[in-house]
Amino acid sequence: MAILRTEAIVLKQFDLGEADKIITFFTKDYGKIRAVAKGVRKSKSSISGIVLPFNYNLITIYRGKSIDRINQIRNIFTFNKVREDLIKMAYASFVAEAVEKVSQENQANEALFALLLSTLHKIMVEEEKLPYIELVFKISLLVVLGLKPQLDYCVSCNKKLAYAEKNYFHVQQGGLICPECYQDNQEDFRFQGYILSVQMVESLKKIINNGFKGLRDWEGTEREYRQLDQLSDAFIKYHLELKIKSYDFLHMIKKLGET
Ligand SMILES: [Zn+2]
Repeated sequence: MAILRTEAIVLKQFDLGEADKIITFFTKDYGKIRAVAKGVRKSKSSISGIVLPFNYNLITIYRGKSIDRINQIRNIFTFNKVREDLIKMAYASFVAEAVEKVSQENQANEALFALLLSTLHKIMVEEEKLPYIELVFKISLLVVLGLKPQLDYCVSCNKKLAYAEKNYFHVQQGGLICPECYQDNQEDFRFQGYILSVQMVESLKKIINNGFKGLRDWEGTEREYRQLDQLSDAFIKYHLELKIKSYDFLHMIKKLGET
């Protein structure tokens, strides 16, 4: 029987039978893995606290024919502080569900693993505003999945772009289009496009190239942030076709915070 050993973050869990749970992990070396945690719902289980969502563990898995089984599990870091705070939990649930939806079983993506771990840390310590952390996560998610928005060359005619007061971001085509292509596609752009200032293009570039570090020198306004947030949502919706249930919950939590 094959045995795997890897670092793993708990994405979700659900009950199986009387005493067991199935845990979905995102692992560093094998991508998404689902494995049974035997007897975890019995009162004397020593691992029930370890398999809670977001926890960062070292796991040993027995590969079964139909389903994998957890052999050993040791906690590296617990995200209690995230789970104990409803707002942080809403953000982290969205992040975990997004990773669950975009990842494949047995297909490693170390950059995605690193992004998940660093985003959970960012949510926990909250040095930056939570919505900004969410924005960087969404844009970085596109980058690690090979869907980086193109900002240097026109996505339509491939001409090198010179940024102007108005820059035309075409969601469906995957990046900026030049003024000439914009003139030719105005009707189409109305439904797919965002007009970005040079400042916003630069902010987007910083996030694409430097992730959370790119946020440190964010100089945009709240309005610009919102526009980039809408743009990233539209981009993810079109190119990844994601429907994330926790995102509705996160929106509800955000609305409650505004009132
Ligand atoms: Zn063009």
